[in-house]
Amino acid sequence: MKKMLKLALVAAAAAAAALGAHAQDYPAKDKVVTLVVPFTAGGPTDRVARDLAEALRKPLGANVVVDNTAGAGSTIGAARVARATPDGYTLLLNHIGMSTMPALYRKLPFSVPNDFEYLGLVNDVPMTLIARPNIPANNMKELMGWITQNKGKINLGNAGLGAASHLCGLLFQNAVKVEMTTVPYKGTAPAITDLIGGQIDLLCDQTTNTTSQIEAKKVKAFAVTTSKRLTTPALKDLPTLAESGLKNFEVTIWHGLYAPKGTPAAVVTKINDALKVALKDPDFIKKQEGLGAVVVTDKRIEPAEHKKFVQAEIDKWGAIIKAAGTYAD
Ligand code: ASP
Repeated sequence: MKKMLKLALVAAAAAAAALGAHAQDYPAKDKVVTLVVPFTAGGPTDRVARDLAEALRKPLGANVVVDNTAGAGSTIGAARVARATPDGYTLLLNHIGMSTMPALYRKLPFSVPNDFEYLGLVNDVPMTLIARPNIPANNMKELMGWITQNKGKINLGNAGLGAASHLCGLLFQNAVKVEMTTVPYKGTAPAITDLIGGQIDLLCDQTTNTTSQIEAKKVKAFAVTTSKRLTTPALKDLPTLAESGLKNFEVTIWHGLYAPKGTPAAVVTKINDALKVALKDPDFIKKQEGLGAVVVTDKRIEPAEHKKFVQAEIDKWGAIIKAAGTYAD
């Protein structure tokens, strides 16, 4: 027994030494960094990830490749990263779902507070309430009337339980006191395609996905979910949901960067340093602003503050979700 314990300790020390050695050379010249996006390609999280991958390449000194592992409201992709080797070569970009999934799922195969290293927050993104282009309503008042007349027949898309669109849809149904049939997708890229095609009626999605479709008039936009109107040209005329009569309706999505728990501290620092440079990249900032997103400049860029912020969001949304009584098994 003693011998086995000794062997285990030696193996653990060797693994730690190997990781430590890698930490100094990180990132190795012949290795790519995989940035896991837990939703489908072409959607809002994917768009942020692809822009970020580009902005990280130079300061990190490595090729950053986006890999979509979609499904179950981002929990499948998050589980993949939680289980990955903690060497800095597999990272996760995820949104507010990190803070809603602990309350939405009775059992998660990982712990959000304990199974990740927090690398820093990336941006804040408003959401928009949008509808199929042929919906017979042109403003929030008319939409509310249409919702009342069509109770029991309304389809609301989302990207699965734990997605931002799910959270926003949940808050919206509670606010209008009308239950809708939710149609889950693996991301809001396919959901918006179905919305444009008229297969679903409503969707609440990030401006990073909806701005170009609103501009092209492929969908009808009704309101923004932030407490203030936006300044982005294509979105500046949209009222807030609160000013449309849905009091206290406010949700802003954020994206953060994560590594598996146990990633060496030196690697975490290298990635965080690169992230800080990426978030000051004028190209990245311009792209994000054009899509209604605001790049983080406050203390949430620091790993410890990012973790504190996510815990506060877990507490905030957990209470709201529990009160709404929505769970997955
Ligand atoms: N916007 C999606 C959501 O509802 C996710 C995505 O496809 O990026 O969370």
